[in-house]
Amino acid sequence: MPGHDHPKRRIRRARITAILLVLLVVVPGLVLGWMAIQATGREEAVIEKQLRTALLAEVTPAADRVAALLTELAAELSSAAPDSVAAVTPAPDAAIPALAVWADSTRLIGIPFLFQRSTARFLWPAEQASVLPESEASFLDLNLDFFQDRKSVEVYQNVAIEYADQMEKKGKSAETVSEVDSKAARRQQALSDFENDAQFREKLYDEAERSGKNVPERAEKTLGRREDEAVAVPSPSRDRRTAVRPPSPFVTESLRFSQIVRGADQGWIPRLIDDRLELLFWKKVGPDRILGCSVDEGALRDRILAVLPVARNEARVLVVLDGSGRPIFDPASGQAPSWRIPFVSREISEFLPRWTVAAYLTDPGVIADRARTRSLAIGLLVGVLVVSIMAGGFAVSWMLRSELRLAEQKTTFVANVSHELKTPLTSIRLLSEMLRDGRHQDEAKRRQYLDIVVSEAERLTRLINNVLDFSRQHREERQYVRRRVDLVELAREILESQQVRLEHQGFTVESVFDTPAAPVLADPEAIKQAILNLLSNAEKYSPGEKWIRFGLRVDREDAVLSVADHGIGIRPLDAQRIFDEFYRADDSLTASVRGTGLGLTLSRRIAQDHGGTINYSPNEPEGSRFELRLPLNSVEDPDA
Ligand code: ADP
Repeated sequence: MPGHDHPKRRIRRARITAILLVLLVVVPGLVLGWMAIQATGREEAVIEKQLRTALLAEVTPAADRVAALLTELAAELSSAAPDSVAAVTPAPDAAIPALAVWADSTRLIGIPFLFQRSTARFLWPAEQASVLPESEASFLDLNLDFFQDRKSVEVYQNVAIEYADQMEKKGKSAETVSEVDSKAARRQQALSDFENDAQFREKLYDEAERSGKNVPERAEKTLGRREDEAVAVPSPSRDRRTAVRPPSPFVTESLRFSQIVRGADQGWIPRLIDDRLELLFWKKVGPDRILGCSVDEGALRDRILAVLPVARNEARVLVVLDGSGRPIFDPASGQAPSWRIPFVSREISEFLPRWTVAAYLTDPGVIADRARTRSLAIGLLVGVLVVSIMAGGFAVSWMLRSELRLAEQKTTFVANVSHELKTPLTSIRLLSEMLRDGRHQDEAKRRQYLDIVVSEAERLTRLINNVLDFSRQHREERQYVRRRVDLVELAREILESQQVRLEHQGFTVESVFDTPAAPVLADPEAIKQAILNLLSNAEKYSPGEKWIRFGLRVDREDAVLSVADHGIGIRPLDAQRIFDEFYRADDSLTASVRGTGLGLTLSRRIAQDHGGTINYSPNEPEGSRFELRLPLNSVEDPDA
């Protein structure tokens, strides 16, 4: 039964609890705090990543929208294309008016062309014409060799999308109704895999390289090399952010015109010439002819802007950047710090090489700001948490410690009380037996024994009162029966009752009463109890020189009663605590002097309840001196 636990076991259990508390609460609390503080250091990176993800979620659909626009434009150009030019044979001149009508039908068409495959000649713009407008001349300059298969161009391919489409072809038989959806989903999946999975990326790049395609500079490899070579080349990316930009999914392949148009009916051919985009649309008309046009860049920009206007809110600006990294339309606010370094960007389509949809932060300091606020909040929270954990820990361990001390004190208390009761009882029994048996006929001796019996009985009463008072005090206020008492008289009475016994034990008792009377308003029984406690202590703690001085004087408004001895005295450290409940300077069970640790506590309480004090001071040259101070009562007794 836990209630009947041995105190020693309880004490050990309390110790273990304290150690566990430190191990399980304080240590983890500190570790937690430390980790949280470490984490706040990474806060900026975390916020940057969150922002990046959020903005990519805006940028990706925007890029997809522009890519879809190109498909729409191809369809538009194709449906307006004059199929009649196929039939016009052999005179090319007859086709020209139809081409002109087509070219006028939309602003998108820059220079229309008609190419005859069998002869590898342009029917329009006329190669042999003596005077060609400059634009047409430069079109031919640029494209003649290419159309005649004497020169190849770099064709862009999105490796991720190609991979997704291949996978789809392989699993085609299993495909069901939701083909379009799953196609888009597959592509999306492949793109995000490409971006997030370096291994997958490398695999696609390697495959592309093996089939003779040109792979863009590899970010990871470049970084690795740079580390090894330490200082070899000046860093190509001045800004950290360009380095972390996801690598391009676009690879290029050198193809000739005939290779490009093989296996398709129409399409786009983008060419980058000095960072400028030359976008060609082509469509097969008839078995031998290819109709097409160069796309007017201005018109193209307008169409893109129509589906994707510059989007701005307080946090970011979304724009389309052309192949040279300039916005296709400058929002002219000048707020975006530099068009060169977007916060996130995504390439649009293989037909718009190097064109991107990009997002800029309107306030580049926003990350640091947010990180600071968040770190501060986390720091504060952790601080509060750690402080409360510590405070809780200390409170609990403090409580445990005082519980522990109390448990120890109670153990000794019980043993001490029984012992203290036994001592006077033994002598009362011994002396009364002697008196009963009539062994001493000497009247004076008999009288002395009787005095001692009375005195011991008084001591017993005092002891029992101490314990009773103490237990009562915890339940209710002590009730005093106050009346006007002459302290001199009371002191004499006490002295008389104790003197015989004390002297019998070998004490020299001096009494110095400096005042004829000291009237106080008090409960005489309570005051007597307090004085007896002091006397009993002087007796108990004087193992060597047995000397007690009992004094009474008047100091201004107070009656001062003092008890001094030449006993063991009290160390300054203990002197501050001897008035505490259960406190004993030597509280071991083997202590030579037994006691309850309650005497001084009760005496002080009694003194205070009477408006007085009780104080300790060392006695010169050795021993202790206690002073009980009570206010004098000059008024007449109300009951008298
Ligand atoms: P106790 O029953 O232990 O005497 P007290 O409350 O009367 O309890 O005293 C508290 C402690 O003060 C004692 O245990 C003892 O250590 C110390 N003390 C009290 N009076 C004296 C004295 N006259 N001389 C030396 N030590 C004393």
